[in-house]
Amino acid sequence: MSVFAERRATVLSRLEDGVLIVPAATHALRNNDTEYGYRQNSDLYYLTGFTEPEAVLVLAPHRTGEAVMLFLRPRDRDREIWNGKRLGVESAPAVLGIDAAYPIDELAQRLPDALAGAHRAFVQLGEDERFDRTFFAALNAARTKTRRTGFAPDTFIDPSTILHEMRLIKDAGEIDAMRRAAAITGLGHVAGMRATRPGLTEFELEAVIEHAYHANGAQDVAYLSIVAGGDNATILHYDTNRGTLRAGELVLVDSAAELDLYASDVTRTWPVDGRFTAEQRAIYEIVLAAQKAAIAEVRPGAHVRSAHEVALRVLTAGLIDVGLLRGNVDEAIETEAYKPFYMHGTGHWIGLDVHDVGSYTLRDGKTNRPLEPGMVVTVEPGLYINRDLDVDERFKGIGVRIEDDILCGPGGPVNLSDGIPKEIAEIEEIVGSGALARA
Ligand code: MG
Ligand code: ZN
Repeated sequence: MSVFAERRATVLSRLEDGVLIVPAATHALRNNDTEYGYRQNSDLYYLTGFTEPEAVLVLAPHRTGEAVMLFLRPRDRDREIWNGKRLGVESAPAVLGIDAAYPIDELAQRLPDALAGAHRAFVQLGEDERFDRTFFAALNAARTKTRRTGFAPDTFIDPSTILHEMRLIKDAGEIDAMRRAAAITGLGHVAGMRATRPGLTEFELEAVIEHAYHANGAQDVAYLSIVAGGDNATILHYDTNRGTLRAGELVLVDSAAELDLYASDVTRTWPVDGRFTAEQRAIYEIVLAAQKAAIAEVRPGAHVRSAHEVALRVLTAGLIDVGLLRGNVDEAIETEAYKPFYMHGTGHWIGLDVHDVGSYTLRDGKTNRPLEPGMVVTVEPGLYINRDLDVDERFKGIGVRIEDDILCGPGGPVNLSDGIPKEIAEIEEIVGSGALARA
């Protein structure tokens, strides 16, 4: 049985009297009639391995012979000449190991039968209006059909209660994909460090890094790369990448490869001319110490929140040490005096989605979820000294973040992005050491 079939079997066993419906991701327009690259919805991929658009998966345990149904695009000679090969309805059952496949155009007509006889529908509503309309029309049709005998779903449940709980715990194959994605990401970051020099544009550095991802087998980036020189590093989600790198400044690179739809998420910060200034070094060392302390916290029974608290304590103590904050650590944390310098959390789940699914609390919404073996979380503390802050001039414009992907192993943290240089001595040796290939 394939890993996808195993996952479907698990979901089928948990649906009880319910039916699960998962639509494919829709295309997104970039400008006029040009689209962004297509990326499958992670839930649909998790259950099928299927990467084509315009598809809907239906898991209906009450339907004998049709418990696993996929609606997809039929083969079409003309369309395939324009837009590429399709798996097609005929091949889908054998290739994907599913019970039945139908053309996507038959969804509206067939979905009522799949709904009839189920008490609950596990379906994500409110994300795709076109899908919502199809679903509600099918539901009405199912109610009409079952008016005198039978029943249709009267309860709607967010499928994340099943699917995202499963996705939170990564199996060996997923961990392997994430480890390989992170290793490729490391090759990109090192290539970027080597190529860095004053006068390089942020977008050229982005290209150098992303070239290394593709040259080493990654099909895509896991998210838009952040390549932020100088002051741009103090903008958390800077992904414009249109600036030019200057001597004396740092460049913050938050960029990572996606391999077989699995994400990595790595940040490194290095000096454009290969030498940290005293102030950059001081801030960098604080962030690195905070990151190491927080990584050690990724062990069974701890939480993402406790890793954040550990990092926060080291960061705040460091800010006091270098004179950017006054008072004592407890007070500065209590009054959130650190906030102008550190305004984000220290980590998030990562998996098929870079900000992966799964709740951070238990069902009560407030108790922190204990970390368990197989969960993977980023650890990414940072310090950002915005030019507008009323602080010592020498620190202004410094932004540092260091991020790795940490598996919670049974015995503690396992760094999936281990070995990507982050010690000051290593970085100073690598930066600028490579030639830049240019026409
Ligand atoms: Mg990141
Ligand atoms: Zn991250």
